[in-house]
This record gives sequence, structure tokens and C-alpha cells, in this order.
Amino acid sequence: MKSNFASKFLQHSAITELMDDLNAGVQGDDMLMLGGGNPAQIPQVTAELEQHLQQTLSDGSLVHSLMNYDGPQGKDSFRQALAQLLSEQFGWPIGAEHIALTNGSQSAFFYLMNLFAGTTDDGAKKKVLLPVCPEYIGYSDLGLEPELFVTVKPTIELLPQREFKYHPDFDNMVLDDSIGVVCLSRPTNPSGNVITDTELQKLDQMCRDANVPLLLDNAYGAPFPNILFEDVTPIWNDNIVLCLSLSKLGLPGARCGIVVARPDIIQAISNLNGIMGLAPGSVGPIVAQHWAESGHLLALSEQVVKPYYQQRAQRVANWLKQAIPDSRFRVHKPEGAIFLWLWFDELPVSSRELYQLLKRQGLILVAGEHFFPGLDEPWSHRYQCIRLSYAGPESDVQQGIAILADTVTRLYEDA
Ligand code: PLP
Repeated sequence: MKSNFASKFLQHSAITELMDDLNAGVQGDDMLMLGGGNPAQIPQVTAELEQHLQQTLSDGSLVHSLMNYDGPQGKDSFRQALAQLLSEQFGWPIGAEHIALTNGSQSAFFYLMNLFAGTTDDGAKKKVLLPVCPEYIGYSDLGLEPELFVTVKPTIELLPQREFKYHPDFDNMVLDDSIGVVCLSRPTNPSGNVITDTELQKLDQMCRDANVPLLLDNAYGAPFPNILFEDVTPIWNDNIVLCLSLSKLGLPGARCGIVVARPDIIQAISNLNGIMGLAPGSVGPIVAQHWAESGHLLALSEQVVKPYYQQRAQRVANWLKQAIPDSRFRVHKPEGAIFLWLWFDELPVSSRELYQLLKRQGLILVAGEHFFPGLDEPWSHRYQCIRLSYAGPESDVQQGIAILADTVTRLYEDA
């Protein structure tokens, strides 16, 4: 006999497989790991981190933090510094009571999706609407109840230079009382898509009209780490739950997620933190507090992190187009995040089979078909895409592209 909890969490999970692969790739020398979400080790970020850690060691704040629990809402001084930074920078009417920390933003999504979706006290079943797919693989298994997600096929805009871009299909999007929350990553993992300000404003208005919270996942977005190559405006209001993270700035090991939301939602996160883990970790906040107080967090993102990824994304997209001249191959316009999303139209095998073929040759990418949680209509496009992380060492990316190009060219020729 198994508890429902055990049945739910002991089944195969795509995100656990991905993290296992990532770990194996990180540990071993023999795999080209272009699959995971590990951020790049940007020399300037590393240098500043080391310098800052030394300072926190000498002034005693690091040791003090490690030797004490923070409160369940997360380190007060960091929440205050961040609230001040965000309200000064963007005019958002927020204080420390609008911010909770979590152990990585992944755990915030677990809390938030199950708070807003699932069976309600009057027996209704509420879903999470993902307004654009493909969407982050890490959401798929978060629901305590099965079939928590619904999504809608996006429209595809074909762009010059063998690029394309997804847009939310508002005409076919149903935001009725079966929806408990809407969630969107911006930039989107896996595609690097950044929905436009106009699209986001429309979505925000639809959510407010329907009285449904809008969860905005800015793990890669504004205002930090700002791996965002389009000129867009960050938004927040009391119907938006904004999730941020220190991970993609370069600190995934700190496991520090940040939720900016109405105080009643923050209180719920705080309760859950207390129950699930007593308190969120305090090392990330100690590192980031000084950067938040001085505003350096935003400068570091804008002047160091963003240009690093932007140049790299463009370079890798060009290498890919040169290596795979077939007109059926397109790259999603790199608008942000640390991945390129590759579309092989008319691919004679599924993306999962392509993943297996590549893995046998020592290359780890992530099969695209996992990134469509909640899509319950057939769509061949789903099986024609694969995600490549361009954040790793350039020589690995180049070797990986050579293997991919060779494999795909043979598949097309043999078809
Ligand atoms: N959201 C998106 C879109 C992600 O890609 C990730 C990690 O890859 C997360 C959230 C979770 O990141 P973390 O828990 O490290 O903050």
C-alpha cells in the first residue's frame, strides 16, 4: 500500500531526470552537458562573489547568519533592502511585508500553484493556466493533484534568418472560473521567448477582470538577473505574484527564491516555509543584501550578466545556422534566458528519440516534448523541438553543435 503522496512523488518525473543528468554531466568529464539550467560562471561575477564573501567573513555577518535561523519569511534585512530597491527603481508600492524568500524559486512555485489551484472547499477543481507553451518543464510535476495544468497552443510568427517567435493565442485562451491561477515565465524557459509588453498588459487585464492571480516567473528576467534582450518594462501590481531568484545571476547553490506579492499571499508563503523547512536559507540573502543596498544588483545584471549572455546567444545561434543549413531548421528568436530552442520541422523522429541518439554520442540536450504541460491536443511541433543551453564552456557548445548537426543532417537525408 502506498500513500497518495508517495504515488504522486515517487513516479517518474522529468525534472528529476533532468537534474540527475545535470549532476552526472557536472561530475563526469565524458558528457557534453548542454541540457541543464546551470548558469554560466561569468569571471566578473565570480570575482565579485569571492571578494564579497571574504568581506562577510571578516565582518562576521556570514558566520552570524550560518549560526542562526532566520524567520520563516526570510532574512528581514534583505527583504527590507530589496523592497526599497524595487520601490525606488520602479515606483512599486511595496515594503518588506510584500516579500518572502524561499529555498529556490522552484519551491515557491510548488507552494503557489497548490495554493491557488486544486480542489477548493466548495468542491470546484481549479487549474493552472499556462498562457503560452512550451513552458518550463519544472512546473509539470508540481501539482499535488493530477492534471493541474491547462495550456493553449501559441501562434508562431516566422521571422527572417530562419528564426521564429511564439505569441499567446488570446482568441483561443479560456480564462473562466475553472482557472485558479495563470503562470508565465518571462523570458520563457525553454524558448527564450519574451512576450511583449502589450501582450503582458492584456494578460494582466484579463487576470484582473477574472480575479485570478498572475504568477510571473522572472527567474531570468527583470530586474535581475536581467538575461533579457528585449526592451520591456517590468510590472507589478497587487494581482501579480512576481517570482525572482538569485540562481541565474550565478548563485544556484544559494537556493534563494524571492516572491513579491500582496501581504496575505506572503503570509501564506511564510506559513508554508515554517511548516516545510522552518526557515529559508540565509547565505544567499547575506551575499545579495549588500548588492541590493548599493543598487549594485541591478548594475551587475545590466552591465555584466546581460551582455555576457546576449553576445553568447547570438554567437551560438549563428554557429547553429552555419552548421545546419537545412531550411527546415529554425531557432526561436533569442530574447532572453540561457537556452536556444531549436525547431526541426518535419523531423523524422520524435524529440525524445533525437535526445536518445545524442545521449549515446555523449551529448545531453533536453527533448522538447516535455515542455508542454497541459497541452491535450495533438501538435507535431511539440515533437520537433529540442532545448540547448548555451551557457557552458564555448568549446563544449561547439562540439555539441557538431554532433547535433551531423545527427540531424543524417536523419533528414535518410527520411
Ligand atoms: N523558473 C524557471 C523558468 C527556471 O528555469 C528555473 C530553473 O531553472 C526556476 C524557475 C527555478 O529556479 P531556482 O529554484 O533555482 O530559483
